[in-house]
Amino acid sequence: MTLTLPERLSRELAGLREQGLLISPRVLETANRARTRVDGRDVVNLASNNYLGFADHPEIKARAAEYLHTWGAGAGAVRTIAGTLTIHEDFERQLAEFKHTGSALVLGSGFTTNQGVLGTLLQPGDLVVSDELNHASIIDGLRLTKATKKIYRHSDPDDLDRVLAENPTDGLKMVVTDGVFSMDGDIAPLGRLIEVARKHGAVTYVDDAHGSGVLGEAGRGTVHHFGFETAEDVIQVGTLSKAWGVVGGYAAGHADLRQLLINRARPYLFSTAHPPAVVGALSAALELVQRDPSFMERLWDNTRFFKAELARLGFDTMGSQTPITPVLFGEPEAAFEASRRLLDEGVFAVGLGFPTVPRGQARIRNIVTAEHTRDDLEHALTAYERVGRALGVIGG
Ligand SMILES: *Cc1c(COP(=O)(O)O)cnc(C)c1O
Repeated sequence: MTLTLPERLSRELAGLREQGLLISPRVLETANRARTRVDGRDVVNLASNNYLGFADHPEIKARAAEYLHTWGAGAGAVRTIAGTLTIHEDFERQLAEFKHTGSALVLGSGFTTNQGVLGTLLQPGDLVVSDELNHASIIDGLRLTKATKKIYRHSDPDDLDRVLAENPTDGLKMVVTDGVFSMDGDIAPLGRLIEVARKHGAVTYVDDAHGSGVLGEAGRGTVHHFGFETAEDVIQVGTLSKAWGVVGGYAAGHADLRQLLINRARPYLFSTAHPPAVVGALSAALELVQRDPSFMERLWDNTRFFKAELARLGFDTMGSQTPITPVLFGEPEAAFEASRRLLDEGVFAVGLGFPTVPRGQARIRNIVTAEHTRDDLEHALTAYERVGRALGVIGG
């Protein structure tokens, strides 16, 4: 007998429920701000990727509204047919200048950017070597290629060296890494990775979703932070959805990269261009971060304060180096229970377990933003202290 759709749905859902993996997203009842409402309760929001507080920034919204009125609600077509408006190309020039790269191209999202760029550049006979903790969109992007795929141990240049040495090829060799890893908040050791890559003639591909707007001068990103932004053997991709507060993905690098992607990247060729309001908001966001350094200063002040205070209370923040601040609970039940109790205390922070993070390393991931006040963070710390003691995660 042929399987029916209701059977497929109910079996899949039952399987997830049994494994404790069934999720239903929490709903924010306000714009995404440092203080929001969840389940009718006012909470400090430690769950967003809104690093600079740009998602609801008045100047950014004003530019979005202006572009909406002038250029319309939608772009009307894919970029290569009739969807490229003056504002799309202006923004890409602005982005390439900001990044100090020969070219930049914007795609629908960070997720589709990895699919488009990896799917375009890597061909049969090529070798791609990927960090074991790379983001799901990189893993899916690599599934689209017929290149030989290998994994190296997380942020381990010696293991990368070994993998490259063991897999010679005359094709293109590419090393792929996140700039900042989204679960632990650690920064890839790019200097050493690029050194090893170069020794083997490999190019380095950096997904900087969590480094853009966070690291480097004016938020130019992890590649800038390490001084490689003009290198021709480095490709930067990233998202416009996190620190930049809106939506979108980009690829920036060699002057010819843009031209090839325009011709080959399938998510670019077959998916409609960003609506004008998105482009307006992004353009205002890039201007704002360069004009006003206080956003990044507040982001990093808050990050240092929050991490130091959590450590003082006895929590394990897992060596994070960035505003991504995990708090280790070990077993998923403990992390999920802590997340529920924090919500009761007015703190919105999400618990993560396997398969999002390795077994035994379930955690709550907090993301500090420029928008949090000291009051917000102190409120969160008091809640953490109470919940941590009640669950026996910290002493006292
Ligand atoms: C969030 C994220 C993406 C996806 O970006 P979107 O713009 O949200 O699609 C890609 N790569 C990494 C490393 C990310 O953290």
